[in-house]
Amino acid sequence: MECIFCKIIKGEIPCFKLYEDDKVLAFLDINPDSDGHTLLIPKNHFKDLDDIDNETLLSINNVSRKIKKMLEEKLNCDGVTLIQNNGDVQEIKHYHMHIKPFYNNKKSIELIKYKEYIKDPKDVYEILKEN
Ligand code: 5GP
Ligand code: ZN
Repeated sequence: MECIFCKIIKGEIPCFKLYEDDKVLAFLDINPDSDGHTLLIPKNHFKDLDDIDNETLLSINNVSRKIKKMLEEKLNCDGVTLIQNNGDVQEIKHYHMHIKPFYNNKKSIELIKYKEYIKDPKDVYEILKEN
């Protein structure tokens, strides 16, 4: 099965990669709902929660902890939301977990409504890659 996320895994489409191991890949969402909005995907193609196996799901959950911690530490966010869409609400039919930082100031609370406040993922990537 060839999908956009499989192409990202193969390196055929570029991404701002945050984490990779033999089972999963994490990278910044191209159209973020907040600064640091990350997608965490299995390297094998599973469609959704019904399709993914338990072992891979465990890897996703374990790595989601690492990503959450990294976003909290590097971006000083005040909360993190994990979302995983299925069915008609799922645009890309390759299982993925959204990891979305939440910021506690008024401007950031309205980030989803006012997308212009959100930084370019390239600039967020620079912050996340700093030591
Ligand atoms: P879904 O609605 O399927 O849960 O969300 C799919 C997400 O994938 C969206 O937030 C969208 O911005 C993101 N996305 C779609 N295509 C690409 C891409 O080529 N690169 C990256 N980094 N994100 C993508
Ligand atoms: Zn795929």
